[in-house]
Formats: sequence, C-alpha cells, structure tokens
Amino acid sequence: MIIAVTGTPGVGKTTVSKLLSERLGYDYVSVKDFALERGLGEPAGDEVEIDVDALAKEAGAAFQDEDVVIDGHLSHHVPADLVVVLRLHPKDVAERLKARGYPRKKLAENVEAELIDVILVEALERNGNVLEVDTTGKTPEEVVEEILALIDGGVKRRVGVVDWSNAYDDILPYLMLGND
Ligand code: ADP
Ligand code: MG
Repeated sequence: MIIAVTGTPGVGKTTVSKLLSERLGYDYVSVKDFALERGLGEPAGDEVEIDVDALAKEAGAAFQDEDVVIDGHLSHHVPADLVVVLRLHPKDVAERLKARGYPRKKLAENVEAELIDVILVEALERNGNVLEVDTTGKTPEEVVEEILALIDGGVKRRVGVVDWSNAYDDILPYLMLGND
C-alpha cells in the first residue's frame, strides 16, 4: 500500500510521515530524496525542481508492491492508494515558514496556497482516495492517531474539514497581493 502525505510546506508532513510509517511498519520515503537518487530533480538554489510526470511514473513502479509512506508536497502526483492532505491554519503556516527563514515572497506564496486549498484541489484532481486532516492545535501524535483511525475505519475519502476564508484578516500582513 502506498500512502502519500502531502500539504503546503510547514504543515508537518515530514514529522507525521515518519511517525505514521513507524506506526504502520511501512518504509518512509522522501519525494525529494527519491527524485535526487533517480535523477528526476534539478537542484535550483536550495530547492529541487522535480519532473512530476517522471516522478509519478518511477515512484509508482518502484513502490507498487511495497508498503510505503511517501512524504512531500509533490507526493500526491504519485499513484497512491491513499493521499493524506495535511492542513494547518495559514497563520501557523506563516509562523513556521518564518521560523524556517523563508524569504518574504516564498512565504507569501505558500501562505496563500494554504489559504485557497491549492494542494487539496491538486490531490482531488488526481486521486479519489483523499483524506484531509486539520493539524491545527494538534500534536503530531494526535494527527497520526486520527489518520490511523480513518484507515482502520476503512474511510477512503474525507474532505471539507477546514475553511480558511475567515483567516484572511489574520494573514493579510503576510500576503503580497500582486506586489513584488
Ligand atoms: P513539512 O515537512 O510539512 O514542511 P515539518 O514536519 O518539517 O513540515 O514540520 C515543520 C515544523 O513544524 C518543524 O519544526 C516541526 O517540528 C513542527 N511541527 C510539525 N508538526 C507539528 C505539530 N503537529 N505541532 C507543532 N509543531 C509541529
Ligand atoms: Mg518536509
């Protein structure tokens, strides 16, 4: 079984993926490491630009008979049995990315992406089995328990658990609103 854990940078994918893989006894795979190992990514500054079509093809083939948790904001491009989309209040996303030293523009892009559900929509375009999980105010352990309970309960799709439209005022200071 392939479980992809995706979401906006900073939502807690790596933390949750590692814990979840331990709990399930699955292997942990980082999209970024996989792409670099396979030559599917071009280093661009401190980022890696990944060919998502090649990633989908190669990771799908490599893990089709494996039990893996695949971590990364592009993991929903991989054909998976289940896609977990982690959500986090955009204000918390902003604080975490600020702590990570993201430049203002990159921070604004990602806060906006969380606000308007970019990754959730992308995941739903590619996969019917999407579990959306709100991590706001929860510990990584609580998030993992919630995911395990959904899996144990046979739930294959659960979306619409957050609505950040009321968060707009809180995060206005972080947005660029068309200004560079
Ligand atoms: P991502 O892989 O989505 O970018 P990380 O797992 O690297 O996110 O987490 C980003 C930061 O937030 C890390 O400093 C991590 O320790 C912290 N973090 C992750 N999940 C939680 C959580 N549920 N509660 C509080 N802090 C968290
Ligand atoms: Mg990560």
